[in-house]
Amino acid sequence: MDSSNQNSHPQITNQSSNSLQFTIHLPQSSNIDSNPNQDPNSNPNPSENPSSNAAFVQNQTVSAPIPKKRRRGRPRNPASSVSQVKSIHSMHTSSSLSSVGVSVSSSSSGRVGKAQMENSSNQASNKNGSTSDSGNLSRRSTNDMMDEIIVINKEATAEALIALTAGFPADSLTEEEIDYGVVSDVDGIEQVNYILIRNHIITRWRENVSRFVTKEMFVNVVPKHCGALLDSAYSYLVAHGYINFGVAPAIKERISVDPSKPNVIVIGAGLAGLAAARQLMAFGFKVVVLEGRKRAGGRVYTKKLEAMGGKKVGFVDLGGSVLTGTLGNPLGILARQLSLTLHKVRDKCPLYSVDGKPVDPDLDKKVEDDFNQLLDTVSKHRQMMGEVSQDVSLGAALETFRGALSEEEMNLFNWHIANLEYANAGLVSRLSLAFWDQDDPYDMGGDHCFVPGGNGRLIQALVENVPIHYGKKVDAIRYGNDGVQVAAGEKVYKGDMVLCTVPLGVLKNGSIDFIPQLPQRKLDGIKRLGFGLLNKVILLFSHAFWGTDLDTFGHLSDDPSCRGEFFLFYSYATVAGGAVLIGLVAGEAAHRFEIMEPVVAVARVLRVLRGIYEPQGIEVPEPLQSVCTRWASDPFCCGSYSNVAVGASGDDYDILAESVGDGRLFFAGEATTRRYPATMHGALLSGFREAANMAHYAKIRASGLKIEKNPSENAYACASMLADLFRAPDVEFGCFALIFGRKRADSMAILRVTFGGQRKKQDQQYSNKLLFEQLQSHFNQQMDLHVYALLSKQQALELREVRGGDEAKLNHLSEKFGVKLVGRKGLGPAADPVIASIKAERIRGRRMSKSSGGCSKPNIKTV
Ligand SMILES: Cc1cc2nc3c(=O)[nH]c(=O)nc-3n(C[C@H](O)[C@H](O)[C@H](O)COP(=O)(O)OP(=O)(O)OC[C@H]3O[C@@H](n4cnc5c(N)ncnc54)[C@H](O)[C@@H]3O)c2cc1C
Repeated sequence: MDSSNQNSHPQITNQSSNSLQFTIHLPQSSNIDSNPNQDPNSNPNPSENPSSNAAFVQNQTVSAPIPKKRRRGRPRNPASSVSQVKSIHSMHTSSSLSSVGVSVSSSSSGRVGKAQMENSSNQASNKNGSTSDSGNLSRRSTNDMMDEIIVINKEATAEALIALTAGFPADSLTEEEIDYGVVSDVDGIEQVNYILIRNHIITRWRENVSRFVTKEMFVNVVPKHCGALLDSAYSYLVAHGYINFGVAPAIKERISVDPSKPNVIVIGAGLAGLAAARQLMAFGFKVVVLEGRKRAGGRVYTKKLEAMGGKKVGFVDLGGSVLTGTLGNPLGILARQLSLTLHKVRDKCPLYSVDGKPVDPDLDKKVEDDFNQLLDTVSKHRQMMGEVSQDVSLGAALETFRGALSEEEMNLFNWHIANLEYANAGLVSRLSLAFWDQDDPYDMGGDHCFVPGGNGRLIQALVENVPIHYGKKVDAIRYGNDGVQVAAGEKVYKGDMVLCTVPLGVLKNGSIDFIPQLPQRKLDGIKRLGFGLLNKVILLFSHAFWGTDLDTFGHLSDDPSCRGEFFLFYSYATVAGGAVLIGLVAGEAAHRFEIMEPVVAVARVLRVLRGIYEPQGIEVPEPLQSVCTRWASDPFCCGSYSNVAVGASGDDYDILAESVGDGRLFFAGEATTRRYPATMHGALLSGFREAANMAHYAKIRASGLKIEKNPSENAYACASMLADLFRAPDVEFGCFALIFGRKRADSMAILRVTFGGQRKKQDQQYSNKLLFEQLQSHFNQQMDLHVYALLSKQQALELREVRGGDEAKLNHLSEKFGVKLVGRKGLGPAADPVIASIKAERIRGRRMSKSSGGCSKPNIKTV
């Protein structure tokens, strides 16, 4: 910034050297740091926060529920969450296994009976003393041992808990683990042992995330006959970034280039690009990162505001700011590695009316409850609407079902809409009714937190030793059998693989030329998904006239088109090192804000603040400095973050994540993660995911094996068809659902087994019951794991008749039919024609029933 602009009167200046099109308002002498991400060391006023693992987990979870007003995302109705609480352990029948905290699902272990009975006595004795049953094991044959559930230590319950916080179901496999082939038998005791080992490794690392855990550290605790499972669990966790990731010295010093490993080009030095680059470097790859801007961090950008000759400063996040849930959040782990004490965003969030008066708390609560109920009503209706809901907007549905409201209630209602538009960076009139909240079940649990001094501190740690070429705007990516070429201006970079992490907005505007063109389904996905807008006005004051006892407050508008303008303020006073206030601008207002003169914007925000505080006798001074963001005008993102627009679905995130060109061109970034889109942790995790994916492809290529084509258009279509078809299965019993062609008796059927949905509540008491309940309510929806099998229709119907519940049926499935349960992808191409023909038959059936004016044959359902 040119210091000649400094004078005692307000000045508005454009910082054109910065690719983020923000403007700075500088009433007083100031000196702006051009790259504040490089200077995040000040740790202003950090709040007390535990950094040890146990204390960290406990402290994050026993706090009060997150207040809805400041949740990014749809507020969840506490009543419905409570009713969803199910015990982790309840899914299972074995008391012996429950005693070690991990139980074998009656539905997931066909051979549970005998082995469990035997094992219960072992474990009883173990409980009374020895922490290992190696003595007993040595007296048995290997075959017997294979059928034993191992005991690693007595802390299996606690370890299951830590695994939950890391994003794993405590007692089952994730779909990714199944696809990775971590065990040879998905529904057996091998799986239970794998889970015990996996949970143990995660726990050991999380006890001290600053160290590097080696496989050898576990050799003495894992029984010898489970060596292969130890290999499998350790390599899965390392490859997928669940352990040994981050910025601790012990982890960084392991990085060394392996000349035999491929060259990788990463495009974009945001969280996704940096996470992937670091992981790939840890795997020995040669990596170069091309970044269009002159700084790293992308949509994470901590700006240092400075005034009065440096006497007043404030570090503030212009982009991603809140760690939305610290439970299992990998960014929380980075913070621990850096000994950063996070500041929990406090619950207090008063709302102020249009005239600046505080909103009556009773009315506030009533409208909030009504609003949440309305969201529940709307979501019930969308279920009844079926596929039609995919073509309807959330806004239209809310309007349809909302009751009559008084003027003040209407303003409050609009405030909640603004909050939704903020969380989704999109207008409710464009959000998909069917899928706008498809990521809700994966919401990270725990507190919402700020990093004191800004998230730039995390970025600064992540960029260390990563070879980043700044100012390299990529124009074209060429990919083929012989490798990749990436053109950035005059320069062409060559590599074996390329990872593209540019924001969805950049992909949408087509400023990168892909040669050959991206597959049509990816182009369609890019088009369908929404990429919305959130802006901020940031104000540095001489003092925090609003007080330091709260982190948020809101303001109502009586004009629906302005409802998002400064509807919520974040106080950064406790974390920025100075009196910084951030006003959020969401919805329609965010778009107008892009072209609003900064003087006008600052005048408008001051009017709001004076309307609130001056009647209380509190003077609102002129800000010392202000910054207005313009994320849509920024050519390196063209918006803020993704959302599910009308016509799109969660599948589109998966499509965006798909690699193309037979393992040459890969994609990461917040818009490629179905579970955690629009977040910083989602971006980071997508980087880890793609590093694993690239390493997998590199391994296959190095082994000389033919690379299996990426899911063909047909395979992809079959996968989404499968999800559709199971919405109305032909037969359902217990945790099983079947779809099959009805015409021919000898046709094939697809069986789906759901683990998790059948969990029963169990009375068992745990010392950390509250923690379990919180976690479980958080995970129970996502833990509805589906596994599949292809079998004949005859077998499928025979299975229905097997007596003895789910356990007996699973037994029958594996022992009598020899059928193996697999993840969706594991069904393979053999299932594609079966799925396609069932779909075709159903379409024909619907057409015929329409033309005959009757109803199609009802599905046969048994409970
Ligand atoms: C205003 C705002 C508020 C937010 N608030 C939160 C929040 O509170 N909590 C939260 O969790 N998340 C929040 N987010 C979202 C979060 O910041 C993003 O999801 C996350 O940072 C995205 O990371 P990424 O790596 O996917 O993309 P980016 O960070 O955008 O990284 C992509 C990189 O690619 C570069 N690039 C683009 N085009 C090219 C090209 N042609 N050539 C070379 N390089 C290129 C960009 O410069 C950028 O560095 C917010 C975002 C915004 C904008």
